[in-house]
Amino acid sequence: MGHHAGDEVLQKLGERIQAEVGEDGILARISGDEFAMVLPFTDATKLNGMLDDVCDRLAAPYKMWGSTIQCRATMGVKILPQSNSDVDVVLKHADMALYSAKGQQKGTWSIFDQSLEDRAQSQRQLETDLNQAIERNELRLFFQPLVDAKSKEIVGCETLLRWQHPSKGLLSPDAFIEFAEDTGNITRIGDWVLRQALSEARALPDDMRIAINISPLQLHSESLVPTIVNALGANGIARHRLELEITESVMMTDTEYTMDKLRQLKDIGVRIALDDFGTGFSSLSYLRQFPFDKLKIDKSFTEDLETSEDSRAITKATLQLAKALGMRVTGEGVETQSQADFLTDNGCDELQGFMISRPKPLANLGHLIDLQPMDAIDEPVEPARLKRAKRKPAADRDLRIVKKA
Ligand code: C2E
Ligand code: CA
Ligand code: CA
Repeated sequence: MGHHAGDEVLQKLGERIQAEVGEDGILARISGDEFAMVLPFTDATKLNGMLDDVCDRLAAPYKMWGSTIQCRATMGVKILPQSNSDVDVVLKHADMALYSAKGQQKGTWSIFDQSLEDRAQSQRQLETDLNQAIERNELRLFFQPLVDAKSKEIVGCETLLRWQHPSKGLLSPDAFIEFAEDTGNITRIGDWVLRQALSEARALPDDMRIAINISPLQLHSESLVPTIVNALGANGIARHRLELEITESVMMTDTEYTMDKLRQLKDIGVRIALDDFGTGFSSLSYLRQFPFDKLKIDKSFTEDLETSEDSRAITKATLQLAKALGMRVTGEGVETQSQADFLTDNGCDELQGFMISRPKPLANLGHLIDLQPMDAIDEPVEPARLKRAKRKPAADRDLRIVKKA
């Protein structure tokens, strides 16, 4: 409704907060939509109830210009000690509590405790560590094979990032990718992933695809297209072999810009896959706006295929939709034969999951893929690890994967 309406809501909100603060408290507006209040209270048993009441009263609808506006306030609380306290520290602690409350649910409150400070400290440490991870050579790529659902031949590999943390051990991306996005490290890390993946991919047979995950922020990076073109060229990898996996969240922000970037990538000849399809904010309109080469059915659907009629229905419909739009489909997270059968019987093109193989360093996949010697690669893998595994793991044996010559 415009800035003017925003100002008026803030005024009305200010009046309500003023009423909460009363004669004995202090109220300040500390930034655009942030207020600070200092309230005296004596009965600790009544604190929670009082905070609930304040939240409720601030969340009651605001009448304005003949319509009703919903607007909630989230609060971070610091309980002041009897002795003097440093104002900056008090505000910092209240702010930490506020972020914690926002993380849980907007329109609620949270009280500062020491664990918030400890967590902030360990986040800062993680950020410092992550900043140095590339220079210290701590990042690793694991590869997970994708098989053709019918022939069972391995047709490609997805690269999955790991961080060999000096004290925490081998970390999965879930432990640091989101964090790398928040701190802006993701572009540097993403560039490393692209270069490293395409360098290692030289060991793959020429007809195998390489799938690489691209984070939403990376798509906004100026360096993305040049990095891809250079890394493909430097390693002599045909452009159509590279498949970039993006998630639906990419499509939600700045759609015009995103479409432009995706088209640029498609124009240079690489393939684009829509990852985790069916989670998040799936919108069928995305499928009309951009010609994806592939959909990846999220593993949460695969997981439920045996027990949930809904999952089976959604999976079937997705497969039909993809066929009609001329897209290939990969079923992710395949762990059992019956999941593989259902997906294959309903027209799924490719399968990926622990049943075929867990993600591993490329050198450890020699029992499934004929790897080229990798001596020309910048960071050579120890030759001993390139030897074929002597015994195939049970899961790999059962599926009778056809090894490509
Ligand atoms: P994703 O792209 O959906 O990758 C598939 C995830 O499912 C991987 O987790 C993989 O280990 C796991 N997975 C594969 N098969 C199975 C199975 O049969 N059962 C189960 N339960 N899980 C299976 P991972 O490696 O922990 O990666 C998590 C996510 O982190 C990825 O999800 C991807 O979104 C992100 N990620 C990984 N590498 C990168 C990267 O280099 N860059 C970016 N931006 N994101 C990455
Ligand atoms: Ca993926
Ligand atoms: Ca996925």
